[in-house]
Amino acid sequence: MKITSVECYLGEGALGGFVTLKINTDEGISGFGEAGLAYGNCSEAAFGQCQDFSKLIIGMDPFDTEKIWEHLHRHTFWGMGGGVVITSAMAAIDIACWDIKGKALNQPVYKLIGGKTNDSLRAYASQLQFGWRTLIEKNDSLTLLYDPKDYYDVVKDSMAEGYDAVKIDPVFAPTEEKSFAEVFATQGTQIRGCYRQHDLARSVERIAAAREAGGPDMDIIVEIHSLLDANTAAELGKALEPYRIMYYEEPTMPCNPSVFKHIKERCSLPLATGERSYTRWGFRQFFEDRTLDIIQPDLANTGGITETKKICDMAQVYDVGVQIHVCGGPIATAAALHVEATIPNFVIHEEHNANLLKKFKNAGKYYYAPKNGFYEVPELPGIGQEMSEEYMSKAKKVVIK
Ligand code: MG
Repeated sequence: MKITSVECYLGEGALGGFVTLKINTDEGISGFGEAGLAYGNCSEAAFGQCQDFSKLIIGMDPFDTEKIWEHLHRHTFWGMGGGVVITSAMAAIDIACWDIKGKALNQPVYKLIGGKTNDSLRAYASQLQFGWRTLIEKNDSLTLLYDPKDYYDVVKDSMAEGYDAVKIDPVFAPTEEKSFAEVFATQGTQIRGCYRQHDLARSVERIAAAREAGGPDMDIIVEIHSLLDANTAAELGKALEPYRIMYYEEPTMPCNPSVFKHIKERCSLPLATGERSYTRWGFRQFFEDRTLDIIQPDLANTGGITETKKICDMAQVYDVGVQIHVCGGPIATAAALHVEATIPNFVIHEEHNANLLKKFKNAGKYYYAPKNGFYEVPELPGIGQEMSEEYMSKAKKVVIK
């Protein structure tokens, strides 16, 4: 089988402008992949990188996923330097090749990478500081929550549909209300150096409200989006110890993994990071230091199914659990489910609240969602998901032959 052309797509708008591609072959089988950079400010770059790398795989066999990965990594000069734009394009190509393999063999991808060790996948309701179903579906938009009472209500909303785990960023919204656009322009409220007492109290009150709503059995993941530095992250982590936190995500930015030792020595919360760490090399020091209890590699930005499986296997050696970071489109979600079904160190699946927006629901050929807090892995051949005709017809498109 040979790759004959690649269609690269860039969707419209924030939180829906997915960067996807469709690889076509000489046997008439096509596969879909996604570069996980729809959010943030790199989608045009990822769209361009997908085009650059697609030129290098024309004529290759999509079954050769290891060879293609090495080719893009080692023969492109910048590939060995990595970076999220590069590894996202590699991910898009890798996912699409696995989709083709599955379709050619008439098997779901999870069966080709080891089979299930997990029959159904526990999921958590993610990013509740932006609301959950009742609030989001009412206006078809995310809403930033300020008052601890709103955090109580949103946890109750997720519990009503069967979730027993949630994730909340208690820092993102400042203590005093501002416009969503103003807060989003800085990606949330950055607190570095020392916490002001009123800011620390507000962060803790929001989590306390979530614990009160959820009761003792609710698992609460505290998300920080790297808005704190090592000092303020340690301070907040210590203050949150009484609330039984499942794990403490991206307490500070991950570029200097040694800093996580500082946080781990000063609070007892299990630590997690991964959406801004790329490839096996990006996770290596965290494993050697054993500072993380959970890793959160983003399959669609860290090199695809091939690379994520390797990162997860490395983690298992250190008794580190896995929650794949999922904040992309329908392709990224489906691909994550296949790896999660396979790996023995799977902990929980992230169900992002942006998945409740109409643009996400309409972007895929199928709409998958957890039932009573659990996901099933798609059983269709390949990854079991494609972009919808409607979505592709509206997206910017470049074809590489
Ligand atoms: Mg995160």
